[in-house]
Formats: sequence, structure tokens, C-alpha cells
Amino acid sequence: VKKPMAQDDDNSGPKIGIEANKNDDFSRWYQQVLLRSEMLEYYDVSGCYIIRPWAFFVWKQVQRFFGDAIEQMGIDDVSFPMFVSNRMLEREKDHVEGFAPEVAWVTKAGSSDLEEPIAIRPTSETVMYPYFAKWIRSHRDLPLRINQWCNVVRWEFKHPQPFIRTREFLWQEGHTAHLTHQSADTEVHQILDLYRRVYEELLAVPVLPGVKSEKEKFAGAMYTTTVEGYIPATGRGIQGGTSHHLGQNFSKMFNVLVEDPAAGNEDRGPDGEAKKLHVWQNSWGLSTRVIGVMVMVHGDNKGLVMPPRVSATQVVVIPCGLTVKTTAEERSRVEAGVQSVVATLQAAGVRVKADLRDNYTPGYKFNHWELRGVPLRLEVGPKDLKAQACLAARRDTGAKQSLPLAELTTRIPALLDTIQADMFNRAKQVRDQAVRVVTDWKDFVPALNDKCLLLIPWCEQVACEEQIKERSARVNSGDEPEDDKAPSMGAKSLCIPFTQPAEPPLVPGETLCVGCGQLAKRYGLFGRSY
Ligand code: AMP
Repeated sequence: VKKPMAQDDDNSGPKIGIEANKNDDFSRWYQQVLLRSEMLEYYDVSGCYIIRPWAFFVWKQVQRFFGDAIEQMGIDDVSFPMFVSNRMLEREKDHVEGFAPEVAWVTKAGSSDLEEPIAIRPTSETVMYPYFAKWIRSHRDLPLRINQWCNVVRWEFKHPQPFIRTREFLWQEGHTAHLTHQSADTEVHQILDLYRRVYEELLAVPVLPGVKSEKEKFAGAMYTTTVEGYIPATGRGIQGGTSHHLGQNFSKMFNVLVEDPAAGNEDRGPDGEAKKLHVWQNSWGLSTRVIGVMVMVHGDNKGLVMPPRVSATQVVVIPCGLTVKTTAEERSRVEAGVQSVVATLQAAGVRVKADLRDNYTPGYKFNHWELRGVPLRLEVGPKDLKAQACLAARRDTGAKQSLPLAELTTRIPALLDTIQADMFNRAKQVRDQAVRVVTDWKDFVPALNDKCLLLIPWCEQVACEEQIKERSARVNSGDEPEDDKAPSMGAKSLCIPFTQPAEPPLVPGETLCVGCGQLAKRYGLFGRSY
């Protein structure tokens, strides 16, 4: 039975803390964490959500990092309309087939029907490429490289999940055109590496880069590269971001071509026209899904655990040790101490806040900021001030240490760096332990049920992938409808990792596919997935 996702469990006012256990009731845990940390609010259109400031800041940090990196590569930001005509949408056959079931249409304006329905972009290949054809006149116009930060709509019918799978989402989409296959190929991998760095360096989430199978590649692409994440609590893989080499598929459909600069006079056609060459194109996208992955990987039973690099507040300073007996003078000394710590850290470039609310106890404030995952809490009390120190408590480990006030400007940034690195290393250790090499089918489903992702020698055939999915789904009792959310769902290929396992060696022409027994080409990564 599907539980309605529309509201928090009860309406008895704001709750502090999380009741659901991450390991026992993951989807309720996820929902409580997002709502109570004020990352997200539900909305009255199913599959659409409000992204609140605490979550939006994470996205802003992604925008800064990735936006700066692509600007340095010479890629320019643009904005195209969100509407696309049916005529354009239909131009590339594979593409439209892939997206048609999810396209939302505007059919009316006020009470009158539109002459022709207009689609809302699910992605912007067909929005942009007619203009690529217009703007690219010569090989000197290449490469043309643009990017936009925008929203797209995919009316998905799978169970929606905040950030992870939503009907409207924010993303960036880059679209580029190149003279050569090679130039496009190089860029595909440069962008994928930036996606890897967003996950690993900003969000402290390890990912596995690789290439998608034929079945899983982007509709209309020549090939798709991906970074794949892992959610330990559910044992599922998740596609983190994708960088596609579109080949010449779209340039042929949209007539994006230039004169071949390498062609000589002998290459000219009967009317003396120069030999033409279709451009090579890429598209690549990273969405607000990144926020959901980060929450799922790092959160715990107290709430969010934010990696310092993306946390809107990195340090919260809380006055402590004040009682009813504390004199007004001492109270104001402590408050001044708190303010001075804040000023010192702000000047050192730390995102820091004081919690001076006088109607809450320190304990309540601790919970409040733990729920929001603030990486570091500093406690300042009368005794600390006498000792010219404060107490620092880490959100990720709970470890506490006393720090001299005089050293805060160096110790706090260093501690934040340590937390960031430790969070990544811990998540990587968990992920590494969950990626298992399987060379015999009999071990496949048990390993899946053990919440693992599996590396298997694989033939890379579509039919084999479909069979693996079927054979790895739990045999249904018959009265339960198959739900994509169920732990019983079959495994699909997540990617063919660029870094292949060394052991046991896969011998071409000899090693057999674990799925179908034909010859294996490479190791494929399989798993249940989002
Ligand atoms: P695509 O254009 O299909 O390659 O999608 C680009 C990226 O957007 C994917 O790698 C996903 O991480 C993300 N994405 C795709 N569909 C959704 C969705 N419904 N909600 C959130 N993110 C999505």
C-alpha cells in the first residue's frame, strides 16, 4: 500500500528532532528530515516541491563551483524559452520516443483551445538546435558552447521522491557543437569529471564514473557517460549526473553543418559547392537531485549532516552555562564573548551564526542545529571565557574538544576541512564495501538483497540486461502489484565503470557473461536503483 507522501505525520505544530529510524523506515525518515530541517515543503501539485533556503544554498554552492569551472572553459550562459513546438520536438525520432510519455502540454489559454498544443521542455535539445543551425555558419563558429540554469518538466509516473525524482526540477543543461568527434569526446569527459568533483569535493559523496549501457543511454545519444552514487540505507544505486555525446544524430535532423575546412577543391560537388560536414554535439545535465543524494548518504537519526562546503551555516555559536543565578553582568559578558567569536570567524571567511535566543535552553538549541546538520557547534560559557577557550562539537562524529579563542581563525577552518574529508572518506569506505564482484549467477540476488551493487563480467547485450532485471526481481506472490519502490524490484545496469576491477581478470574471448553465459566484454555495474 502506498503511503500518501503529502504531509508530515501529524499537524500538531513544528517538531524538533526525528522519530523515524533511518534504517527501519527510510522513506519516513527522509520525509521527516527534509520537512523538519526546513529544506523542503510539500506542494499541492503532486511531484512538485518547494525548495527552501536551507536546501537552496546547497544548489547555489553547486552553481558557483560548476558555473565558475565551465566559464573558465569558455562556455557561456544563455536562456531559451521553456516552450517547444511539436514540430521541433518530433525532429529526432529516438529522442522524441524516449521523452514522449513524460512531456507536459499546454493546450489552452484561458478558456480557448490553442490552435496547436505547445510542449513544456523536458530537456532543450529540440529547443536550441534549430538556432544552432542558424548561428553556426562556418567552422570558425565552432566550438559553440552554451549552458543554461533552468527548470524542466518531466511528467514521470514512477513514485515521486523529493529532489530525487520530481516532475519539475532545476538543473543546468550544457549544449555544445564541435568540428570533430574527438573534440566533443574530450569535453564529455571533462564535464563528467566536474560532476564527479561536485559530488566528491562539495557533497562528500563518492561516485563511480562510467558509460551507460545501450538500454540506459540518453534518448538520441551516441553514448552517455554517468556518475553513479550509492545509497547505503536502501542498497540502491542512483544516477548522479550525465554527460552525453550526441554524435551527429541531432545535427543531421536539425541541419547543423559547416563547410569542411579540410576539404580541397577536388572535394567540391558538381556545382562547385564545398563539401559539408555535420557538427558533433554534446549535452550534459546535473539536477537538484544532488541535494537528495547528499541528504540520504550523510543524514542520521538526529537529522541532516551537512558537508561544510555546502552548508549555509558552517558554525553555530551558543552561549552556555548560564543559570538563573547568573548575574546580568556575567550574562552580557558571555553574549559579548559569543559575538566576538562570531566576528572573528566571519572575518576569517567562515559562515557562522550566533544563537542568542533567550527563550530556548542550550539543549533545545543543540537539537535545533543538529537537526539542520550544522557541521560545528561552539559552546561559550563563563568558564570557557575565563580560560580564553570555547568547546567545539562536531555534528558528524559528536566529538568535542576545547579550542583556545586565540587560535580560532586557523583551527576552525582546519576543522571544517577535516570534517569535509572525514565525511567523504567514511562514505567511500561504506560504498567500497558495498560494491561486490560477482562471477556466478547464484550469488547475484543474495548480494543484491545484501544491499550491494554488483560488478559482473557482462556481454553488454540489451536482451541480457532485460533478463537480468526480470530474474533478479523477487518472484511475486501474485496479489501484490509490482512497485518500482519495492525492495523486490529487479536490478538494472548502472554503468560500465571506466575503472574496471583487476580481479578476477576478465579475459576477452574466454570469460563468460554472468547473466547469459555468452562471452563477456567488460565488467558492468548492476544494482537496484532509483
Ligand atoms: P538526462 O537529461 O535524462 O540525462 O538527465 C540529467 C540528469 O538529471 C540525470 O543524470 C539525473 O541526475 C537528473 N534527473 C533526471 N530526471 C530527474 C527527475 N525527475 N528529478 C530530478 N532529477 C532528475
